[in-house]
Amino acid sequence: MVNVKNKQTIAGFIPTMGALHQGHISLVNAAKAQCDLTVCSIFVNPTQFNDLSDLKNYPRTFDADCQLLDAAQCDVVFIPEVSEIYTFKELELKKLNFEDKSWTESKTVDFGSLVKVMEGAHRPGHFNGVAQVVSKLFRITEPDKAYFGQKDFQQLAVIRSMVNQLAMPIEIIACPIIREPNGLAMSSRNERLTKEERDKASLISKTLYKVKELQTIKTIAELKAFAEDQIKAEPLINLEYFEISDAETLQPITDYKQAKSVVACIAIKLGSVRLIDNVILY
Ligand code: AMP
Repeated sequence: MVNVKNKQTIAGFIPTMGALHQGHISLVNAAKAQCDLTVCSIFVNPTQFNDLSDLKNYPRTFDADCQLLDAAQCDVVFIPEVSEIYTFKELELKKLNFEDKSWTESKTVDFGSLVKVMEGAHRPGHFNGVAQVVSKLFRITEPDKAYFGQKDFQQLAVIRSMVNQLAMPIEIIACPIIREPNGLAMSSRNERLTKEERDKASLISKTLYKVKELQTIKTIAELKAFAEDQIKAEPLINLEYFEISDAETLQPITDYKQAKSVVACIAIKLGSVRLIDNVILY
């Protein structure tokens, strides 16, 4: 990367964990449209998993990934080994975390209330691991722009906060959620759903879009109750949270007047597969 980049080259970077789909490829396309050099990394990051079995079961399809990236004309693919990214000590620390979940706050950045809610509250240490790996990947690839999907809405806010706090000269670009024909947000984890579960999972986005439609006639409390009822009516789906939040701070709101922009976020479990989705209300 450093060798092929010269001063005039605008480099765009897309960090991924692989098992690529059209959601990832949309980020590659966005980078290609704006940059001279597009770099995609594939790294199943052990420090952002809360659960060893989730890490072990995470799909790894490197050959198919490279074919997709080739077809999308991505210039560089970076597939590091775990030992190239982490020291032994860093991994030992995470191993402890799998057992006692006590390692939460990053030493160099403070995400404050941003990580106390939603994914941060349900996956202790997760955003620490994300920030840890993305900061390392940024330092290796030195991009001018980095592309992230709005599907991971809270992650995007965390990365923006990290880049600001560390004064990294990188523009963070948010890209829209790409969905399956039935509305289900594309995700590497969808591969682990049965056909029946995939069909049922369309209820997630249907509920979010209905919530968006109803915002003009319902209060926040009514919207929350509506969404929770919709999801709970499907026995195969376990609701982890449904929140209506300030799209900047990600703190839950109780009144529309409390935020300039509002997002509805959801996390559910379908069998052993955990899925997240969101829609911006305004
Ligand atoms: P992951 O491989 O799941 O870590 O995702 C890598 C990047 O792709 C993240 O910025 C995600 O937000 C983004 N991404 C994943 N799924 C989608 C999707 N359905 N639409 C848009 N971006 C996505």
